[in-house]
Amino acid sequence: MIVIGGGLAGLSAGVALAEAGWRVRLFEQRPFLGGRATSYVLSDGEHVDNCQHVTLGCCTNLEDFYRRVGSAGKIKFFDRLLFQDPQGRIGEMQAGILPAPFHMTGSFAGFAPLTLADKRSIAWAMLDILRGKGRTADLDEPGGISMLEWLKRRKQTAGAIDRFWRVVLVSALDEELDRTDARFGVDVFWKGFLSNRTGYRMGVPSVPLGELYDGCKTEIEKRGGEVNLRMPVRTIHVANGAVAGVEFDGGRRESANAYVFALPHLAMAELASEEIRRLEPRLGDLEKIGVAPITGVHFWFDREVMTEPFVTLLETTAQWIFNKTALYGTSNGAGKGKGQYLQLVISASYDLLQKPRQEIIDLCLKEVQQALPAAREAKLVKATVIKEAAATFSPQPGVDRWRPTQETHVRGMFLAGDWTATGWPATMEGAVRSGYLAAEAVLRGAGTPRKFLQADLPADGFVGWFC
Ligand SMILES: Cc1cc2nc3c(=O)[nH]c(=O)nc-3n(C[C@H](O)[C@H](O)[C@H](O)COP(=O)(O)OP(=O)(O)OC[C@H]3O[C@@H](n4cnc5c(N)ncnc54)[C@H](O)[C@@H]3O)c2cc1C
Repeated sequence: MIVIGGGLAGLSAGVALAEAGWRVRLFEQRPFLGGRATSYVLSDGEHVDNCQHVTLGCCTNLEDFYRRVGSAGKIKFFDRLLFQDPQGRIGEMQAGILPAPFHMTGSFAGFAPLTLADKRSIAWAMLDILRGKGRTADLDEPGGISMLEWLKRRKQTAGAIDRFWRVVLVSALDEELDRTDARFGVDVFWKGFLSNRTGYRMGVPSVPLGELYDGCKTEIEKRGGEVNLRMPVRTIHVANGAVAGVEFDGGRRESANAYVFALPHLAMAELASEEIRRLEPRLGDLEKIGVAPITGVHFWFDREVMTEPFVTLLETTAQWIFNKTALYGTSNGAGKGKGQYLQLVISASYDLLQKPRQEIIDLCLKEVQQALPAAREAKLVKATVIKEAAATFSPQPGVDRWRPTQETHVRGMFLAGDWTATGWPATMEGAVRSGYLAAEAVLRGAGTPRKFLQADLPADGFVGWFC
């Protein structure tokens, strides 16, 4: 069995197949595992994530994967999400004592950045999602509708859109509301905030992302497999409608009974020859799936400037500030052990792609100083900006029609990746789902079916009674 790509999709497929008794040989082009959810060491010796990654309580497959590879204990879950507007008004989201779907009522009622009219309009839209059990009729319109259109049809106030829907969804889906399929947006609220009490809980790694994958190599190797780094596949050979092998630099060729290609969709499109596209025409559609950027800004201060583990900012360029020092439980990186390391996240950061790094640093520093008074007195020891131009696929309306299933018409070829048909947007959960689905497809094809995909969190409280 050969797996190409050492991101979460390839790793989850590889670990699942190894567990099913297959000898897995995984090939990754980079010198480390994790793909788009990884960490590395900067030239000055600082260990940084390519960008802060978070999971939610409703991401059941990612949680299962972390458990399988011994990393579940490295994720800290938080029940309280904090929001702050430029006027310093604070809003909280935290489950109270009421059962779902009313568990957020208390914190929502006291959410200071929203007016009563904003809250009333949001409550009506939530009721609509509840009534449809996460699927309102207009989500099935041909070609899909945008989230902005969905909100307008439900007469959401400008404040509700800017200070609530946009804040949650741009972060969750990495795209502006007018370019997001409403199906994904509605799903975030149904699975994360309405159908049960725990789906919204935010999980944040307490170690650099790369350390979450240490157990993958062990799981694959202890069953006779291998993990090969710095091994980019250059060509896929096909003969008689089946994959005949993959070729690496220097003409080295490897073959196996089955192959899982777990690459980003544009890398897969590049490797899919005319012959492969003839056999599997859906691979010809991959270029139709767009990409969206995320920018991470890393600040090291000479002193503590923030006490909360993270905060969401409203109406600023920076959307999140993560207190990495607190999350890691160490005083990382500011030299004398008293400093603080913060990471800012900007999703759908199209406007920043062309901006010089120093300009982004200046802009974000101003916003941090505005939000955190202690930062005004502190010295910024160093800063870095990491732009990921193709962080995720863009969840544009109707995008699901271009997403192929994990099984293909080329014998021996299976696909994995957050962009394959999982029903989920581009997330770590979506990537693991795709890996598990690919592993299930391989095992079905071999006549030894086995299930890896985990069920969604069950509805609970009052929602559980009618779902
Ligand atoms: C900046 C940023 C922030 C994000 N934040 C979040 C978040 O907070 N929460 C969340 O859930 N998701 C987040 N995501 C999305 C998440 O990281 C991805 O959805 C997920 O990691 C994709 O995994 P994958 O395995 O499908 O693809 P990838 O991680 O892209 O893995 C593909 C692998 O294939 C390798 N490869 C490519 N070509 C070849 C080749 N020819 N031969 C061999 N190997 C090859 C690549 O090097 C890579 O390791 C974020 C993404 C980014 C970039």
